Amino acid sequence: MSYQYDLIAIGGGSGGVAAARRAAKHGAKAAVVEYDRLGGTCVNRGCVPKKVMWYGAHIAHTIRDASGYGFDVEQKSFDWNKLIVDRENYIRRLNGIYESNLERENVDYLPGHGSLIDKHTVKVGDNTYTADRIILAPGGTPVIPEIDGADLGITSDGFFELTELPEKVAVVGAGYIAVELAGMLHSLGSDVSLVIRKEHFLREFDEILSSTLTGIMHDEGLKVVNNTSLAKLASSDKGIAVTTTDGRDLGHFDQVIWAIGRRPLSAEMTPENAGVEVDSRGYIPTDKWQVTNVDNIFAIGDVTGRDQLTPVAIAAGRRLAERLYAGMTDRHLNYDNIASVVFSHPPIGAVGLTEVQAREKFGDTVKCYQATFTPMYHAFTPHPQKTAMKLVVVGEEERVVGIHLIGAGADEMLQGFAVAVKMGATKRDFDDTVAIHPTSSEELVTLV
Ligand code: NDP
Repeated sequence: MSYQYDLIAIGGGSGGVAAARRAAKHGAKAAVVEYDRLGGTCVNRGCVPKKVMWYGAHIAHTIRDASGYGFDVEQKSFDWNKLIVDRENYIRRLNGIYESNLERENVDYLPGHGSLIDKHTVKVGDNTYTADRIILAPGGTPVIPEIDGADLGITSDGFFELTELPEKVAVVGAGYIAVELAGMLHSLGSDVSLVIRKEHFLREFDEILSSTLTGIMHDEGLKVVNNTSLAKLASSDKGIAVTTTDGRDLGHFDQVIWAIGRRPLSAEMTPENAGVEVDSRGYIPTDKWQVTNVDNIFAIGDVTGRDQLTPVAIAAGRRLAERLYAGMTDRHLNYDNIASVVFSHPPIGAVGLTEVQAREKFGDTVKCYQATFTPMYHAFTPHPQKTAMKLVVVGEEERVVGIHLIGAGADEMLQGFAVAVKMGATKRDFDDTVAIHPTSSEELVTLV
């Protein structure tokens, strides 16, 4: 049986594009299907525009800190529109680079909505294409709760469409997106309330990170409204009125941002037509080779429900293509010890097990080394922010199984240490590494 393509990837985001390009590099005839702009969530309404906004917020803090170093500067104004226009132009350039990369590597770009007709046939608009193998990489979309007036709120997608800085904002949720958006908006000048339904945010992370960030938010005047859920949003001439399930009136906001999680875009691809299994939450399970229950259909990225991070989707896609088309028969992604950063203010970096997870797995053989200090930069600023670090080690040899950082530079600090963790480094290896002075990261090799 001959097919038009060796491989079709449904989804032109990080995972689909990476897999198709790597497959083409190794001789496969490949195509990518995408109905939106190329680059997926990360490029268009995720990591990239978020980091631009984070840099903007970081500059607001730097201006505020400058007096501590003898500069007489003040922030006279902030032109939200300029930043947004430049950001969108930058993203358009990236969209173009994505397209030219596909062209250069002879990957066909099939614009349109892709869905499965059977295990070898993909429908794109009015056309159908056949492929020996199909990769499902459609990504996800933000969830909106089913409460009265929920549509008055926006999601992270809406945040990236805002034409002005909102004066008063409620950000609802407790994960990466809620913490990042709340921090950016607050730093840029909005009056922000972060509404969380439990005691703490970032509960999946080590406790040292959420407790330190909670303290910093408190000092900065970012309100955290905890242990409550929203019951209703209502529109009024003063803005969006927000009431909670325990009957509290939180007041009026210019914007309410839902950041309560994302759902996979699996149903839109009609996986049932090819017999592809989807779990109760819409995720497509795969084995370690990224194979679904159908032998020629694979899934990568957010739709699999595993670490929903761009580099994870790229790594899984490239390894899959190398296994299928470059003869690397054992090539697959190991999902252990994947580092990630929350672009809060200051940023958080984490890799490996939290203290709680380590104790669950290894019991009393777990030991933690930690430090909280004011980094040198903040010894001079009017709004000092603490840095905190925790090293989780296991057993007599004190193998490092977790690193948890919050503080200026934590985002850039973690990558190299993640290599050490991946290689099985011990506390002794850290101790034997001579410090770089004066830095914050030197604390990680001098913890006692
Ligand atoms: P997350 O799943 O990370 O967090 C959402 C959290 O919101 C939940 O964990 C839950 O926390 C809380 N929540 C859920 N439902 C409700 C509700 N009805 N009302 C109030 N709170 C609720 O989702 P995000 O949308 O923040 O991010 C999605 C994924 O995108 C992340 O998991 C991450 O993988 C990725 N991402 C990565 C980034 C990065 O690498 N820097 C940045 C942004 C996103 P609780 O149970 O504590 O209430």
